[in-house]
Amino acid sequence: MARSSSDRVPPDRYLIPVEGLCIPHRWEIGRVALHPGTAGTDLVQDAPPIEDEDDFFHDRVYELLDSAMESTIAEVPGGSDVDAAMEELRESLDVLRLFQLSRQTTQSTSFGLSGDIRASLVEYVAIWEKSAPGSRFVGDYVGFTFTEDSYNDWANSTAFQFLSGSLADPSPAEGPSRAVTGARLLARAATEHRPDLKMLGVMAALEAWLLNRQSGPQTLRLARHVTWFGCGLPENDQCGRDRPVCPYLHLSPDCKGGISRIKKLQELGSTYDAWRCSEWHRVMDWYDARSDAAHGNPQSVDTKEANSAEYCVLHYLMEPILNWLREHPQNPVADLEAMIDGVEEPGGWQEMVKAINSQDRSVPPSLT
Ligand SMILES: [Zn+2]
Repeated sequence: MARSSSDRVPPDRYLIPVEGLCIPHRWEIGRVALHPGTAGTDLVQDAPPIEDEDDFFHDRVYELLDSAMESTIAEVPGGSDVDAAMEELRESLDVLRLFQLSRQTTQSTSFGLSGDIRASLVEYVAIWEKSAPGSRFVGDYVGFTFTEDSYNDWANSTAFQFLSGSLADPSPAEGPSRAVTGARLLARAATEHRPDLKMLGVMAALEAWLLNRQSGPQTLRLARHVTWFGCGLPENDQCGRDRPVCPYLHLSPDCKGGISRIKKLQELGSTYDAWRCSEWHRVMDWYDARSDAAHGNPQSVDTKEANSAEYCVLHYLMEPILNWLREHPQNPVADLEAMIDGVEEPGGWQEMVKAINSQDRSVPPSLT
């Protein structure tokens, strides 16, 4: 239908229904404001439909808003086309999803733009001597409610407030920019059901947050950076802070001879429990699985391992990492390396080095 030329000016705002989401009241994420679906008609009060009552455009506006009555309506800034607005909304919903999942310990239900939630019933016929019909549900169940308590939790989370602010920042520094990139990757990995893609996405998120683009021993750098946030965290006894630094963190792959020494340490740790830093070895295992997926052995990534990597990142690593990016907006990764490099040498370090070099398991390192 041909409209007047004023239609080519982008709208000031878009209202877009979000499926399966219930919120207690207005909720801002980045530049997007989410409203309970019941607020629909109020949102067009200052801008009534272009046609009179009983005309198509008039009725369609209210029908559309009514259809979201039981869920949520997103108010997205205009100024560009609706595709850009939908992308901006998806980004905000991604952040909300990470918040949702980080607070859940069991399988969650989902929400999103129409068509973005994967939910389907695959039906089939199974054949033995005779045949029988069957079906399998694939995807996420639709429908999630945030309570007033979850809103307060959101409002008090420095990490999520930072992420939300970073989305709205038109020219973010490196820290907030990394925060957003990693969050998008992680949110996509979280909605992914195929284990190889999930694993790739989870590791890509960690790389986006904690790795500079450069050549050299990137896997070892990533393992060291991630381990800084995870080692000793669940027991509240953090490596290099509450207790002496463990050799996995102390050894830098960028020091002379560092790589070969770390490899020897890794071997010791793989063979003898006392030499293990479970956090470091776990990140290396994740990276291995990710590399299998990327380099042609996707079957070797099992669902359990991908889910467990996702769970750890969502529940333990994400918020400390986001807070680091918040506190180090200019050079977060260089600052992190400098911080780890600057931690005092652990006691008995020279003997430990000798033991690592000679693969002598008998010197017990101060590891947990
Ligand atoms: Zn450790």
